[in-house]
Amino acid sequence: MYTATLDAPIEFLKGVGASRADLLKKELGISTYGDMLTFYPFRYIDRTRFYKINELNPDLPLVQLVGRITGKETIGEKHKKRIVAKFTDETGTIELVWFQSLKWVDDNVQRGKVYIAFGKPTLFNNTFSISHPDLENYPRPATVTGNLTLQPIYNSTEKLKKRFLDSKGIQKLQRLLIETHLREVPETLPAYILEKYRLAGRREALLNIHFPDNPSALQHAERRLKFEELFFIQLMLLNSKQVRTLKFKGVLFNSVGARVNTFYKDILPFALTNAQKRVIKEIRMDTQRGIQMNRLVQGDVGSGKTVVALMSMLLSNDNGYQACMMAPTEILARQHYASLVELLGDQLVKVDILTGSTPKKKREALHAGLEDGSIDILVGTHALIEDKVKFKNLGLVVIDEQHRFGVEQRAKLWRKNTIPPHILVMTATPIPRTLAMTVYGDLDVSMIDELPVGRKPIVTKHLFEGQRMRMFGFMKEEISKGRQVYIVYPLIKESEKLDLLHLEAGIEQMRYQFPLPDFQISIVHGQMPNVDKQFEMQRFIKGESQIMVATTVIEVGVNVPNASVMVIENAERFGLSQLHQLRGRVGRGAEQSFCILMSGQKLSKEGKLRLDTMVKTTNGFEISEIDLQLRGPGDLAGTQQSGVLDLKLADLVKDQVILQEARNMVKDIFEEDPMLELPRNSLLSAFLRRKNQGISFDKIS
Ligand code: ADP
Ligand code: MG
Repeated sequence: MYTATLDAPIEFLKGVGASRADLLKKELGISTYGDMLTFYPFRYIDRTRFYKINELNPDLPLVQLVGRITGKETIGEKHKKRIVAKFTDETGTIELVWFQSLKWVDDNVQRGKVYIAFGKPTLFNNTFSISHPDLENYPRPATVTGNLTLQPIYNSTEKLKKRFLDSKGIQKLQRLLIETHLREVPETLPAYILEKYRLAGRREALLNIHFPDNPSALQHAERRLKFEELFFIQLMLLNSKQVRTLKFKGVLFNSVGARVNTFYKDILPFALTNAQKRVIKEIRMDTQRGIQMNRLVQGDVGSGKTVVALMSMLLSNDNGYQACMMAPTEILARQHYASLVELLGDQLVKVDILTGSTPKKKREALHAGLEDGSIDILVGTHALIEDKVKFKNLGLVVIDEQHRFGVEQRAKLWRKNTIPPHILVMTATPIPRTLAMTVYGDLDVSMIDELPVGRKPIVTKHLFEGQRMRMFGFMKEEISKGRQVYIVYPLIKESEKLDLLHLEAGIEQMRYQFPLPDFQISIVHGQMPNVDKQFEMQRFIKGESQIMVATTVIEVGVNVPNASVMVIENAERFGLSQLHQLRGRVGRGAEQSFCILMSGQKLSKEGKLRLDTMVKTTNGFEISEIDLQLRGPGDLAGTQQSGVLDLKLADLVKDQVILQEARNMVKDIFEEDPMLELPRNSLLSAFLRRKNQGISFDKIS
């Protein structure tokens, strides 16, 4: 992005030198002039505001005062030696104190002179003082980089501070860089884009992000730099999508055949929701274009994603191709398999299952069946990705619960067929639109934004430990109506032993409350052998047990329509999206369902907000927005691996409008100029070539 000078090692900037350059690199990742220029302040202090001494209070952060030095003396001995000056305005007097650089202070701070003093006031013995204040002559002289109205504050570290690279020291380097090298900074955005969105030029923006003259200049600069950041991410994402589209052919699903029709007309026990119909239509369109489909289907828990997946797989079968469906856990894979077999019977297609615990003999038969094409649909876990698993002609891969699968794994699946199979990713983790656009920017997104009719919204209650008996009473009532109940305990690595103890104590208490033989309790947690888990799950699914005590292994996908109560223990310890997932395990049948959040009396502010949110809404998207605000995007499922969220300025929550603008712009550009051949887009094609994002169109055509 930079001319040779801006690529210059920071070491050569006046006042830096080799050893500080080393530190800058280690501590802040700054190695060149250009890196430094894009190391932005993290906040600003308003230096247009002057305080009077009688306005000071100990809670104020940094303040600036105008006053005269009315006294100055050196007191104390040795390491306690310090200079204390009296600083006076028309409303009072405070002390300015220095413990270091005493000689310099003694020589330069003059009694009787008026200064601007800047620093953090502290109250001691009824007198305010500021230690190591910033002193400037009054009035301030104008400089190239403007009058300091908003003072930039930079992040620094202890090590850097020791080498005088505190915020102030960094500010000095920035000022020097701007004064000497700003004119070499090249524009990165084409002029027509700047014009269209009324964006500041890059130089102006860099000047004003470091040394803004006023708040509106700062805002203008921020907008430009945020736009740029988001724009180039979108450019890369949509470009790789474009390249993929041009480079890879897609399996053709030309026709709807007997299997889809039979299933739809004779088997499907309910009418599809409009949202389901719409998404199936989108998939139909995608798969008859001769281009590989990469589609993400988002739908809240219980919105009916499985049927959509199933019909897509049948479509693949109808066109002579196999399909597979990957689930993140063995339990889920089995559940999917069981429900597919139950729905389809054994006439229509041949469905089979492959997981880590499939015995060797069965495995061999499976491999053979996949290679000769006698298996139409394969359900499974990660085991599906193994290289040994070969298909005769794989046309579609459904991935349930995307966030557990990395991009690399997706790519592995592509290679299972000469023409890469279509990919359909299903996720019930509602991702806020902004995040979807960024993290999954290279996928097309479908939304199932409607629940099947007749679903009653789940009633959620928050109870404190003291109300536990009420909870048990309620459970008994529901069970006596023939319903089933989940009780979920947190189990996290750091406190695993203690958590298991809680779980066991909980079960003890339950056995006392719900004595056998009237009540059967199933127990499932991550520490159990797989076979035991399966056994206990099956008991609950078949209705042989009424209560399922579990850790979060049941988080995703488990479908027992007769279960109508979800009790979550220590609910304050779960994240919002996890709570939402867990709650989604109930409310799947015709009965009114309930979710009871149990918590201790003492709650953190955030913990309370999470529980209140759960009580207030059942809308997954609303919940995910709040989750995003609470945790930031870094924590959200799927974002860690993506590497696209390395944003310096833009905030995916606050800057949604800019993100949308940037994305729209990129879309328009590719629509009009798919190869970026127009002269006006030359900056963009140059950017992509540098990023080596596989824009090598010559190879494609
Ligand atoms: P999820 O989107 O969470 O994976 P599922 O596909 O498991 O949801 O569907 C949840 C339940 O709703 C299942 O029991 C399924 O049979 C049922 N279901 C799905 N679609 C409909 C519909 N259109 N009408 C009625 N019930 C439906
Ligand atoms: Mg599901």
